[in-house]
Amino acid sequence: MNESIRHFINQVKIRNAGESEFLQAVTEVATSIIPFIESEPRYRNSKVLERIVEPERVVIFRVPWLDDQGEIQVNRGFRVQMNSAIGPYKGGLRFHPSVNLGVLKFLAFEQIFKNSLTGLPMGAGKGGADFDPKGKSDNEVMKFCQSFMTELYRHVGADIDIPAGDIGVGGREIGYLFGQYKRIAGAFNGVLTGKGYEWGGSLIRPEATGYGLIYFVEEILKTREDSLVGKKVTISGSGNVAQFAAEKCIEKGARVLTMSDSEGFIYDPSGIDKEKLEFIKELKNHTRGRIKKYATKYHCEYFAGERPWKIKCDIALPNATQNELELSDARTLIKNGVFCVAEGANMPCTPEAVAAFNKAKVYYAPGKAANAGGVAVSGLEMSQNSQRYSWTRTEVDNKLKDIMCEIHQRCLKYGKETDGHINYERGANISGFVKIADSMLAQGVV
Ligand code: NDP
Repeated sequence: MNESIRHFINQVKIRNAGESEFLQAVTEVATSIIPFIESEPRYRNSKVLERIVEPERVVIFRVPWLDDQGEIQVNRGFRVQMNSAIGPYKGGLRFHPSVNLGVLKFLAFEQIFKNSLTGLPMGAGKGGADFDPKGKSDNEVMKFCQSFMTELYRHVGADIDIPAGDIGVGGREIGYLFGQYKRIAGAFNGVLTGKGYEWGGSLIRPEATGYGLIYFVEEILKTREDSLVGKKVTISGSGNVAQFAAEKCIEKGARVLTMSDSEGFIYDPSGIDKEKLEFIKELKNHTRGRIKKYATKYHCEYFAGERPWKIKCDIALPNATQNELELSDARTLIKNGVFCVAEGANMPCTPEAVAAFNKAKVYYAPGKAANAGGVAVSGLEMSQNSQRYSWTRTEVDNKLKDIMCEIHQRCLKYGKETDGHINYERGANISGFVKIADSMLAQGVV
């Protein structure tokens, strides 16, 4: 690490003490961007990097609600409005007990580069609450969402800040949030994305992150004249991203061996097929049960309290949460012959794991590029809402494919190394940064 990088990171550390995930995300970006900035005086002198690590605005608020026993519960709500250089703030809401300011700042920071890479006019934000929807009744989830939106509504708007889903926030939660926004604001507009199709949502939005991830993997494979047919794939998670990544893998002829939740993973050597995946969708989206049930139903192995990275595979897709793939996992994957790791989740690989992949010349696709399909189709949902129109499934899917292909091209622009290896991490960071930096420079000291 050179002296300017060390100095920059130290300054950020002092101002953001204790926000470990945010510091991790900033360190990762700064390490690849600072050498580039040093060669471009207009970015260095205008302190763009110093500015973008500081959120434009952060709102923190109380979320009181009544549970089914009539008891008052209190949670903490957040919205981080990170950067509006290229459009209104845009990024998901996460409901999970681990949510705190540092986690949301890391996610909002990643969102700056991700949204920039899509080529669509979207700034960056992220929000959520330390509320755990697991084990809550529909009525309790609704009460919580209504209370959350009762404060959030004054900070968001179709041209200001447009939240979407993330961990713990799916179609049900977006519905309750939208209903409450409409009642308070007295307006039916595109303030949220991920809406139901009947009331302003876009086709393919639920599928977009998972499908987009696989379209990105296909672009990687094309660089070595290869395809997904017959490839062994391990997936972590069994939520929105994991389900649709698995669906697209199956459609493309790959063999999906694993899926997981926060309690363990299942290993199905014969492959999770379409019918088995439907069982997982029903289990996770409706009965809201544990992945262990899959192993009982289909007589395969279940590993309690473990992650799937010890299973031999060609392609690994961490699709659950941050820092779920560590150095020891990376070493095992490399030893077992993995050649591509693409992040459906945000920052699932630790910095040490990423370094090991890059050193072993494994194709490593960071989340800010590989999982950008979700926010891209959210951007398309915003366009359809503005037009008061909806596009067909094929139209949206084709646009998603084009966007993922363009993101791949943008990564190549700055990511190609002299030996031909592609450093997607550096490519994504620099490409994402240039558009933001040029826009900020054009807008003065903002
Ligand atoms: P979901 O809530 O639908 O699913 C999350 C999955 O990850 C569940 O299987 C969950 O298990 C598991 N999980 C959550 N926390 C942990 C943990 N601490 N340890 C182990 N497993 C965990 O979320 P999404 O699928 O929407 O999001 C997954 C990842 O993808 C996140 O990193 C998110 O930021 C990222 N992402 C999501 C996008 C989207 O459009 N939804 C867009 C871009 C990125 P359990 O059910 O037991 O909690």
